[in-house]
Amino acid sequence: MDTESYILPVREVIRETADACSVVFDIADDVRDRFDYKPGQFLTVAVPSDQTGLAARCYSLSSSPVLDQPLTITVKRTVDGYASNWICDNLAAGSTLRVMPPSGIFTPADLDADLLLFAGGSGVTPIISIARTALARGTGKIVVFYANRDQDSVIFAEEWRKLSAEYPERLIVVHWLESVQGLPSQEQLQAFAANFSTYTSFCCGPAPFMKAVSVSLRALDFPRERRHQEKFVSLGGNPFGDVEELRKAEEEIAEVDDRDESDTPALAGPVTIEAELDGENYTFDDYSGKETILEFLESKGVPAPFSCREGNCSACACVLLEGEVEMAHNDVLDDLDLADGIRLTCQSTPLTEKLKITYNG
Ligand SMILES: Cc1cc2nc3c(=O)[nH]c(=O)nc-3n(C[C@H](O)[C@H](O)[C@H](O)COP(=O)(O)OP(=O)(O)OC[C@H]3O[C@@H](n4cnc5c(N)ncnc54)[C@H](O)[C@@H]3O)c2cc1C
Repeated sequence: MDTESYILPVREVIRETADACSVVFDIADDVRDRFDYKPGQFLTVAVPSDQTGLAARCYSLSSSPVLDQPLTITVKRTVDGYASNWICDNLAAGSTLRVMPPSGIFTPADLDADLLLFAGGSGVTPIISIARTALARGTGKIVVFYANRDQDSVIFAEEWRKLSAEYPERLIVVHWLESVQGLPSQEQLQAFAANFSTYTSFCCGPAPFMKAVSVSLRALDFPRERRHQEKFVSLGGNPFGDVEELRKAEEEIAEVDDRDESDTPALAGPVTIEAELDGENYTFDDYSGKETILEFLESKGVPAPFSCREGNCSACACVLLEGEVEMAHNDVLDDLDLADGIRLTCQSTPLTEKLKITYNG
């Protein structure tokens, strides 16, 4: 189990709205390359807790990796939430926070593509990183549909205004305020997206908003490779690997190794797996099928993405192109995702002797 994490000093905490703040980190030169990231990726942070030692949570980077911006996450308070309120109430310049390196696949493969970006509330965090980066380095057009409760809840309002003024030919930002227009319906979202049916879409926000966008894009025949979404959920466990967690993880691995044939789907021989990741193709024909796809790829030195390892987040998601797998646990993919072939590699073991997956979905 990879427990790589770093204590990062907080340079500054910026109050973005009444209930959202950005946390700006300082990165020492000797760990800088561990914090290289792509727009849309997230950090996993360890928030101290009297009850559990720590609460692990993911927060997307709002900064852009191609601009001269320090590493920044943006956190919105969740009503009765633990970690988001702790961060907004306790962090200040000079604090420190334990953080795992960036992760995630919610990132454009082509910065020159035309992008249709949907954000709801705090879902704007990865969206602004993608927009900032594509505007600075890409050539395509960018349309942002940003839904909020009311004007005071709009995060980065001033920055959206400035970017729109700076890139009038390339950027359109549409603010949708529930206080003015009500919640955006699926019909309204679909009518909006219909104007941009050749664009590549990225969507992040509350579950009902994401569902409505997803249904709309499917109805408009956006192909799977042009539909991306990031779900904000809290991790149930602790990927930082303290003593208790390591013990549990070891027990779980032992259980997997001890599984007898009655638990394990009958596979006549080793599994052949082909995996496409970041433009590289990997093929292995000695996968026993006992460990998860993620564990197997890691054992082969493949830099496969992951975060929670518990089926709570979608950092490890791949698209299954050939074969079938069984997922032990899934808190994050819905029926539509599954129908699209999306699977969590941290939870998947093979049911067939040939698997072909891609992380480029
Ligand atoms: C990939 C990804 C990216 C994300 N990016 C962002 C982002 O950019 N911005 C953003 O705002 N959110 C983001 N999120 C959501 C974020 O990770 C959290 O889910 C969100 O902030 C809510 O967490 P919370 O602890 O405040 O609330 P909850 O998770 O609802 O808090 C309640 C939970 O905390 C536990 N708890 C209560 N008290 C304690 C205690 N004392 N010690 C330990 N546990 C306790 C409870 O048992 C309960 O499980 C992202 C999520 C994912 C998966």
